[in-house]
Amino acid sequence: MSDLRELYQEVILDHNKKPRNFRRLEGANATAEGYNPLCGDQITVYLELEGDVIRSISFQGAGCAISKASASMMTTSVKGKTRAEVEALFDRVHKMLTRELDTKVNSHELGKLAVLSGVCEFPARVKCASLAWHTLNAALEAKKEPVSTE
Ligand code: ZN
Repeated sequence: MSDLRELYQEVILDHNKKPRNFRRLEGANATAEGYNPLCGDQITVYLELEGDVIRSISFQGAGCAISKASASMMTTSVKGKTRAEVEALFDRVHKMLTRELDTKVNSHELGKLAVLSGVCEFPARVKCASLAWHTLNAALEAKKEPVSTE
């Protein structure tokens, strides 16, 4: 078993057991709902935006370990970032999950999120991992309709 795969399983288990920022956010001024019908994952993302900066973020939902862990990691990595920074990060995460990006070369930009590249070995779960990011995007764009990965 490769080191990355071992780390991947460890991180997913840890975030699934103790999801960060897993609560309803009082004072949220942007929210969005996301749904991955393929797996049945559901998520709501709450944002407290101050101008262009994400001051606070949280999520709630029900789904598989990957969707929950990915959402948990997403909240910790975008807090305090600007819209533009989040867009750039989302772009990199998306490319990593779809294997357009070499994580060995770019892992310094992705930081802890690089561990999510482990999901590439399970193509059916890529949508579980990207759901939180699509939902975050929808919240930033103030979309009223729930987003779906399909
Ligand atoms: Zn899932």
